[in-house]
Amino acid sequence: MNSFDIYKKLREHFGGVGSWWPKDRPFEVIIGAILTQQSTWTNVEKALSNLKEANILTPKDIVELPLDDLKKIIKPSGFFNQKAERLRKISEYLLATYSGDLELLFSKDKKILREELLELNGIGNETADSIILYAAEKTEFVVDAYTKRTYSRLKIVEEKIRYDDLKKYIINEIPEDLLIYQEFHGLIVLLGKNICKKNPNCKECPLSSGCKYAINQKIH
Ligand code: SF4
Repeated sequence: MNSFDIYKKLREHFGGVGSWWPKDRPFEVIIGAILTQQSTWTNVEKALSNLKEANILTPKDIVELPLDDLKKIIKPSGFFNQKAERLRKISEYLLATYSGDLELLFSKDKKILREELLELNGIGNETADSIILYAAEKTEFVVDAYTKRTYSRLKIVEEKIRYDDLKKYIINEIPEDLLIYQEFHGLIVLLGKNICKKNPNCKECPLSSGCKYAINQKIH
């Protein structure tokens, strides 16, 4: 079973999930990508909804908001001191470098954009790729802990595989297509949250027939 087969099976099981994010709110994607670090999506949603309620929607809003207020608003996402600092820093950077115009940032070549994002404090591979894939809408595949767990249980890769190696492995097996990249990551997250959990529910899994873990457990 290669990665494109995995994508098709997951899509058949869960349906098409599209791009996940509203295309017209790229700054929200950036905020979400930072808030989701070491957190669950449910808690991030609470923090995002608090931000919307407080009408904090742009880099300027974040810079103008007292830091303690920002911490309170994003508290549900956890690690709020660190994340508030990160949100503040990236907002200041966007204002100083692009006058807050994300179109300008996203008009860059994806390789250059990635390098630029990775230079910012608190933005690692997964956060940078999430911003490029879902906010800039460029084909940069996102790998996360769910991807590593599922791919290692399928015995396709070692659990300790490096981020870039797993990403390269997957993109070599799927067409370079924005919707497929966006959707495949979303489907892997759905699988990881609902089926291939810490204690996997292999009986419900659309990948069980090709999964070494399920075969070893005599589930399939
Ligand atoms: S069969 Fe089980 S271990 Fe394998 S991918 Fe599915 S849930 Fe995970």
